[in-house]
Amino acid sequence: MSTYKTEGIIIRRSHFGESSLILNVYTKDFGKVEAVARSARKAKGKLKGHLELFLLSDFVFAYGKSIDKVANSFSLENYENIKNNLNISFGTYYILELTDRITENGYRNERMYYLFKETMKFLNSLATDNALKYYLTIIQYQINVMQLSGFFPEINKCVVCKEKIKLEENHFSFFHGGVIQKKCLCNDVSAIGIDNDVIKIMRLLKINKSNVDEYKNSIKDNIKIIEKLKVKKKIIFQLIKLINQFIENNIEKRINSVDFLMV
Ligand SMILES: [Zn+2]
Repeated sequence: MSTYKTEGIIIRRSHFGESSLILNVYTKDFGKVEAVARSARKAKGKLKGHLELFLLSDFVFAYGKSIDKVANSFSLENYENIKNNLNISFGTYYILELTDRITENGYRNERMYYLFKETMKFLNSLATDNALKYYLTIIQYQINVMQLSGFFPEINKCVVCKEKIKLEENHFSFFHGGVIQKKCLCNDVSAIGIDNDVIKIMRLLKINKSNVDEYKNSIKDNIKIIEKLKVKKKIIFQLIKLINQFIENNIEKRINSVDFLMV
């Protein structure tokens, strides 16, 4: 049986048959892997307990004809604090679903993997009562996952006339894919009003590094920024909604767990 080994985190877990599971795992070396774990839900199965959500694990996969199989799994870290707080759990489900929807099977992307892993780690480390940091962590993930996926809204120049955006009255055009000035609004009547803080935070948290080590350092810098940043709840919700909508339009898929985020 030919196998491959890698580190990863389960992003989707669904029951299959009487006692098996189908998993989507986001991995360091192979991107998203879809695999079946036979008998994983049996009380005495060797994989029992190793294939839960919120675990960082080493996986051994075996190549299969139609779908690969989980041959073995050992958990390395347990992000168990996530389970203890309802809000953080909802946020993490959103991160998992977003990662699942935005990635294709088999595309390795090391920067995306580290962004995802560090985000999970940081969410796990958050104090249960810190809603602001929790929301900002989700926003910084949305911003960078979108950037790494090859689409990002234009936030520096007006999408219609290409003039540099001044922090005056601005709107956002989903149709043109970015910020639109007031004087160009007649080009998209469906554009929505946005606060300039939305633009500023997107600029602040977006990472522009192609080198993996530099990218990792930038994630750490972003986490330091999140520790200190003060943002109004109104701006937080504008950011989450706007970016989620922009992502959904680009990938042409709905991300259902967004509905539980802003309650
Ligand atoms: Zn313009």
